[in-house]
Amino acid sequence: MKTFTKNLILFALALMCAGGAAFAGYTVEQENQLGKEADAEFMKQYKLSTDKTAAAELESIGKKIAAQVSRKEIKYTFKLVTADEYNAFAIPGGYVYFTEKLWKQMTPAERAGVIGHEITHVDKRHAIKAYEKNQRRALIYGIGGAVLAGGKYANVASVAYQLGSLSYSRSNEKDADLGGTDLCIAAGLDPTGVYRSMLRLEQIANSSGKKSANPTILSTHPATKDRVKYLRKYLEGKGINVPDIEADYK
Ligand SMILES: [Zn+2]
Repeated sequence: MKTFTKNLILFALALMCAGGAAFAGYTVEQENQLGKEADAEFMKQYKLSTDKTAAAELESIGKKIAAQVSRKEIKYTFKLVTADEYNAFAIPGGYVYFTEKLWKQMTPAERAGVIGHEITHVDKRHAIKAYEKNQRRALIYGIGGAVLAGGKYANVASVAYQLGSLSYSRSNEKDADLGGTDLCIAAGLDPTGVYRSMLRLEQIANSSGKKSANPTILSTHPATKDRVKYLRKYLEGKGINVPDIEADYK
């Protein structure tokens, strides 16, 4: 109990020191600044792909989808990067990263689905809220950035590390799946993109054998099978015909 009270006091003090940002939430300006700084750190670690055609394609699909977001004050930047992982992620401020390795395994519809999903995490403020939560936790336990940045990303500033490893709740993921589907539809792209991307990610996970080769993007709940199911239901509920393609991904 004593420790609890002490932690609460530390928490309150830390929040005051943080200038109230943790209370009120980050402003758009702060979010953009955070993204910009983290991107600079990321790009010390990741290399931009030299495949100009693919990078231009990412930029083109990305812009179409980003034109449909609700928070217009966030400008989106798309980066095709080389990394030995099947991954795509977005950070606050609208930076979207797609690894070449995952890109090559996907069809245009699947790529759009992934982009729609990632953009939704930013547009619905899942990303910045998850970061705020991390910050609060770090303040409560008095964990410094250096400790948090240990391990794989030890050479990367803690902000970039934290942003690159944001974890979302099950409901955030579902929101991003359905929201990403809506963005693809609004952009005039294949409505089944997110649905197909899940099937593809599941296929990659099943065929890669080694657990370490699993798509990093899948390392969160809910289970891919459930996502496929609710996405199909969602599309059908909108009167969209979902072709019988699940066997094609086995
Ligand atoms: Zn997600």
